[in-house]
Amino acid sequence: MDCIFCKIINKEISSEIIFEDEEVVVFKDIKPKSPVHLLIVPKKHIESINEAQEEDKELIGKLFLVARDFAKKTGVSDSGYKLLINVGEGGGQEVFHLHVHLMGGWN
Ligand code: AMP
Ligand code: ZN
Repeated sequence: MDCIFCKIINKEISSEIIFEDEEVVVFKDIKPKSPVHLLIVPKKHIESINEAQEEDKELIGKLFLVARDFAKKTGVSDSGYKLLINVGEGGGQEVFHLHVHLMGGWN
């Protein structure tokens, strides 16, 4: 499949993966738009939240709990942060493999 995030997950292209388990990977955004900018990505290829199924609800919940954990680990938990999902071209989605942006670290 010609999906850049699937290629990162399958280690076909390199990235700064900082966490991985059987369901989720977390890596640094290649063009960070905030001092902390991580992407929380399910290993399952789901194009966008529009394509998510009922069976994906635990996985989607997990993305947010992993994001919360990494907010804490990167030290932005108390100062505050954004969790963002872009949906579709009009919503600013560039990579059509579901992901949550964790952005924070501003003063
Ligand atoms: P979105 O606009 O929500 O689809 O976000 C896609 C994000 O993926 C952007 O912030 C890009 O900077 C990031 N991105 C694209 N290619 C890579 C890559 N190879 N490694 C890490 N992040 C990437
Ligand atoms: Zn994919």
